Amino acid sequence: MAGAAAPKRQDTRKFFENLSGAGKSIAVLTSGGDAQGMNAAVRAVVRMGIYVGAKVYFIHEGYQGMVDGGDNIKEATWESVSSMLQVGGTVIGSARCKEFRTHEGRLKAAHNLVQRNITNLCVIGGDGSLTGANLFREEWSGLLDELLQQGLIDEEAAQRNSALHIVGMVGSIDNDFCGTDMTIADWVFIPEMPPEDGWEDSMCQKLSENRADKKRLNIIIVAEGAIDSHNKAITPDYIKDLVVRCLGFDTRVTILGHVQRGGTPSAFDRILASRMGVEAVLALLEASANTPACVVSLVGNQAVRLPLMECVQMTQEVQKAMDEKKFDEAVRLRGRSFENNLSTYRLLSYRKADSELPNSSFNVAVMNVGAPAAGMNAAVRSAVRVGITEGHKMFAVNDGFEGFYKGQIKEIKWGDVGGWTGQGGSLLGTKRTLPGKHLDKIAEQMRIHNINALLVIGGFEAYVGLLELSSARDKYNEFCVPMVMVPATVSNNIPGSDLSIGSDTALNAITDTCDRIKQSASGTKRRVFIIETMGGYCGYLATVGGLAAGADTVYIYEEPFDIRDLQANVEHLTQKMKTSIQRGLVLRNENCNENFTTDFIYQLYTEEGRGVFDCRKNILGHMQQGGAPSPFDRNFGTKVAAKAMQWITRTLKDSYKGGRVFANSEETACLLGMRRRAMVFQPVSQLRDETDFVHRIPKEQWWLKLRPLMKILAKYKTSYDVSDSGQLEHVTRVRPKESNTSSAI
Ligand code: ADP
Repeated sequence: MAGAAAPKRQDTRKFFENLSGAGKSIAVLTSGGDAQGMNAAVRAVVRMGIYVGAKVYFIHEGYQGMVDGGDNIKEATWESVSSMLQVGGTVIGSARCKEFRTHEGRLKAAHNLVQRNITNLCVIGGDGSLTGANLFREEWSGLLDELLQQGLIDEEAAQRNSALHIVGMVGSIDNDFCGTDMTIADWVFIPEMPPEDGWEDSMCQKLSENRADKKRLNIIIVAEGAIDSHNKAITPDYIKDLVVRCLGFDTRVTILGHVQRGGTPSAFDRILASRMGVEAVLALLEASANTPACVVSLVGNQAVRLPLMECVQMTQEVQKAMDEKKFDEAVRLRGRSFENNLSTYRLLSYRKADSELPNSSFNVAVMNVGAPAAGMNAAVRSAVRVGITEGHKMFAVNDGFEGFYKGQIKEIKWGDVGGWTGQGGSLLGTKRTLPGKHLDKIAEQMRIHNINALLVIGGFEAYVGLLELSSARDKYNEFCVPMVMVPATVSNNIPGSDLSIGSDTALNAITDTCDRIKQSASGTKRRVFIIETMGGYCGYLATVGGLAAGADTVYIYEEPFDIRDLQANVEHLTQKMKTSIQRGLVLRNENCNENFTTDFIYQLYTEEGRGVFDCRKNILGHMQQGGAPSPFDRNFGTKVAAKAMQWITRTLKDSYKGGRVFANSEETACLLGMRRRAMVFQPVSQLRDETDFVHRIPKEQWWLKLRPLMKILAKYKTSYDVSDSGQLEHVTRVRPKESNTSSAI
């Protein structure tokens, strides 16, 4: 796995070896409120910058450090960003800075940059920080003129520094995939959604109904800046008084503030930040005098660049709409997924009265198949509640296809799935059994319960199971109904989807354990840890876990390796131990190679590293399935299942003719997956060609392109395909057009 994976064919791909940072200086700062993953982003910028031959500087304490200069601006080294991936907040500080809001302040900042020939700036921060960056860039040539006139810099310095390139970094633009957890709250107040007049009464009524149902705990979330429809602030204290006064409930107020931001960043935050850090350096290297300052971000699963100015304008428009009390407009401007998040949240939280529900007279069955994965329960809850809202009668199947053929199926109601979101494993019960041998009995159960549609939430067996059922449609009319699966497995090995429910939780468990294992060695002598991860033949958990935990080497089945690679990897670690970093982390996917076992690798490293480092090995096992689902898996499970359920409703309507449901076209047996930027429904039969059934993995794995990134950040020379990046897009068209088979929720 060491060394360059040279491009196999000459094609249109663009490799970043052609981009050199020699002679360039890049400064990185974190600004404004601290956010998860800031350190991972700083680390990636520093290492990628050094990797391409640029000089990289830290600017400590955000814009304040830029204004003050001196020791606040320091050259960064490779080792200086070691061991910071797992640290919350920002290691380089992010003071707020009034001075930078003034022209004088920005003049000082410009002087400090010019003195060090820094013409590339990477700003990691929120809206405010980016607004400041935008202004700075607009003023740059004027600032240089002033410095020249004041005799603070000479003509040559002004020339040399005439173009300032800025790239900003923000979290995922698309709220679809961010970690905000909206699924646990009984009641949420956010600035964009002021409650209607009379909300106090309806909230109190709802809370007292809840208590009557014996619900003991209610959570009310009040976001900073929440207002009512008259722009009057809604504060936690106001709510508290209201609840105590009207209902006499014991009420606690917890201001989350830094709790929600601080702590150890999740695997997702680290990966996102690492990807964006690398992307930011690429954007700076490619910038010319004419390219606008840009922001790098992630839409869906894809890195994008957007003009900084447009992002700033968008933010200002949202603020303006809020000021003018045009809340719907503000929600719309925030993007479709924000709007969708809100409507999903509303839909799942409030049960409509039976009289308000349509009566579809359709029966829909939901089941889990395969190994348990965190987030499966959130998906079931969402499917059941959306289904009920759409007028269907929902049925739960226990223990997968095994329970199905044995007749373990019964109606499931709104209240039955209350509180399921936060629970790990599978409450319905899940088994790996495939339906193929039990088609007769499954068809019989479908007939007995008059099942008109099927939603399967599960892993590879769910996919194979759906293929088996749909192939049997010729023989069994019972299977001629809409069927859809949503991928849920820790391994993330399902064709047709970049991600599956549960893999984020598993990654967090792996990353967390790697952190602890690394921690255990701090202060002791030089040590290398060899850790085995799950995933069958799929190297996703090992690779992405390795990226999040800062691994030196990751062995996977998809990227074959031989003894020369192993040797080179040991040598690499030997060199590393000569620096101030004394620890090594090696991940090995369980099925990466049948002969180079974890024991073999451990023994090889131990022998070859003798006198330089010692080794420890660890097999992670089932702890990787994780306990409670991560916020990402809760949200992802909730939203994907809701979408799948809406597809079922549409497909049922389309296939209801002559008093019965009949669906036997390919398009009526689908997998709903995330592909780059969109959620797409794909006929399972069409995914056959994309599947390696022997090894139970997709033939193409998108995340293989993250491997060079991991290697670069571990100081390996490698090749990195950058053809996906570099396209500057526009804010207005950043939302992907979803395929017409996908729905908007
Ligand atoms: P965030 O970046 O998280 O939104 P702030 O709004 O506090 O946080 O902004 C962080 C810093 O960015 C401010 O302290 C200030 O130095 C700078 N900044 C924010 N807005 C502007 C602006 N309009 N002009 C110049 N600098 C700004």
